[in-house]
Amino acid sequence: MQHALAPYPSPEARDRAFVALIDKFGGTVHTYGHSVDGRPLLAGQLPATKPSDRRILCSAGIHGLEYIAGQVALGFIEALAHNLADLREQAEVWVIACINPDGYATTWEADGRAERLCTLRANARGVDLNRNYPRPGNAPPSRWPGAGSDTPGAATYRGPQPLSEPETAALDKLLQQQQFSASANLHSFMGTVIPARVRDRSWFATYRDLCRALASGQPDRKYSRLSSRLFDVFTGEQEDHQHHVHDCWAVCVESFPVWASVRQHLRAPSKFWRFNPHDPTPWVTNDVAGLGAYFRYALQLPRPSVARQSRQLPAGS
Ligand SMILES: [Zn+2]
Repeated sequence: MQHALAPYPSPEARDRAFVALIDKFGGTVHTYGHSVDGRPLLAGQLPATKPSDRRILCSAGIHGLEYIAGQVALGFIEALAHNLADLREQAEVWVIACINPDGYATTWEADGRAERLCTLRANARGVDLNRNYPRPGNAPPSRWPGAGSDTPGAATYRGPQPLSEPETAALDKLLQQQQFSASANLHSFMGTVIPARVRDRSWFATYRDLCRALASGQPDRKYSRLSSRLFDVFTGEQEDHQHHVHDCWAVCVESFPVWASVRQHLRAPSKFWRFNPHDPTPWVTNDVAGLGAYFRYALQLPRPSVARQSRQLPAGS
């Protein structure tokens, strides 16, 4: 009998597909840590095909139930052998298909159903890993909805302290070691691109151009940018940490727009089918092409700190 979440892969099938793809294209799979429940955290390293000291990262699945994000990551690896082959001429490419394997496994075992979103979204300790990074500059917590909560059981529970979770601590170490110059972090569902939060005008404009590049590469559905220099807040998200601490251009890409989710089910039969399309293929095709355009643009840019220095701006703006 088909699993309730078909055509999406089981946790084991996802890892098998990931390892097979990285192997097929001459890469190496690294275990960069272990989850709370002891599952390996896997990152694929695909060496550049021409001499290059740059590295880019495509990561997915920090939220357990957002399976479409992992499928886009696998599609991205495949495309590196075809229409995105030019990226590997310019940079070493790293891919993480599942940052939160415990959340993925919980979602699989529960057939994508849960009373509360945090059961499927968080790690095995109920922490929203995408609220568990330090807020840049020790920014105070925000009370905006979705900005993160100190209450265990909340969908955006940020955990007892920044990087308290093995999944985020291990990824932070990898970010430190590899010094990526650009990153895309894949989620669902919104149909938007959310850049790192920056107040600097020039950085803000660069992110506008990066998001435009991503949308221009999407052949079918173009995602719009969601950001504000003034009204955005720091929430402990991965892309903010990557930009401000690891000097990396970083965006969150939310696959599968709200309208498409509502068209699929006015009342979704489970949380899973609110976040994921029954047929991932058109979204993978659409979003992988957008990622290609985003990384192409990002690889023309100096690192954020160099971009700032070249404008001789005072620090802290
Ligand atoms: Zn998400």
